[in-house]
Amino acid sequence: MSLITGLSDRYPHLGFDGRPLAIACDDGWLGILHAFFADANKAMAAGGMFTLQRVKEKMGGLTIHYAVADVAPDARRAIDDAYRLATARSFHICESCGRRGRLNNFNGLWKVACSEHADGELGKGVPFEGPSNPDDPYSPEADPFVAVRPTVTEFNAAPIIEGWLIEDQSESGPRSWLFGWFFGQPDISDGEHGHTSPIVQMDEMVPPRWVRTDNRLYRLGIYYPPSEREIRYWVQKLARRPVVHGEPPGGSDDIEAMLIFLRSTGRLRPTKIDRMEQAYRAEQECQKFNRG
Ligand SMILES: [Zn+2]
Repeated sequence: MSLITGLSDRYPHLGFDGRPLAIACDDGWLGILHAFFADANKAMAAGGMFTLQRVKEKMGGLTIHYAVADVAPDARRAIDDAYRLATARSFHICESCGRRGRLNNFNGLWKVACSEHADGELGKGVPFEGPSNPDDPYSPEADPFVAVRPTVTEFNAAPIIEGWLIEDQSESGPRSWLFGWFFGQPDISDGEHGHTSPIVQMDEMVPPRWVRTDNRLYRLGIYYPPSEREIRYWVQKLARRPVVHGEPPGGSDDIEAMLIFLRSTGRLRPTKIDRMEQAYRAEQECQKFNRG
């Protein structure tokens, strides 16, 4: 069971009210659902009524119950196609984590799982080895949405980005990339700050755990709010040393001490440090508020 929020803003043609949507499946399929909603939203832009009735797991796959009324036949067809695609994808994506998976039988319970979640709280799954349907035109390898997802083995071997931040899309055009401190990346020294190639796909889970870029797959490490991250960035840069793996950028979690250090170096304009400090304080207040 998961809750999805913000659907009415993101998909204005699907008739969502402002309330969170409860779905009877795990978070690993959130990306599949969002892709379905995006296609349906596009098809409904010309008018008509779409009602989402239920989202659940059934016999291991994703089931979406919906009704459409007063729509053109091609819009209805587009939505039905999007639904068939969503179900087909769900049999290749781990319901628990969104990485590559396959249908497993856990003592009579069917569930799509990656190799890690095929041996977890449900016990040890037995992979489904039945015949594939020769009439089924769907191939996960030909579907980039599924094909770019990491397997557990690939995920475990991927370099990691700590303190990652997405470059603002409005400034970098339609494609964005990540900044961060890299570890285990063959072309970058451990603990150096840099940016990735453009993002191909990013984990939809919160917090995200992986990103696929044009060049490679990365695991995503710790995330800092932007203003805190900026202070850490400058401390690290002015201290002129790479980040040690396992230690936070800036050397500690003492942001006050970092602000004192930045002022002591005389390398940044005091007004710049003031601005960073104000933004950091506002960010902290905002987080306190959000935590209630
Ligand atoms: Zn998994």
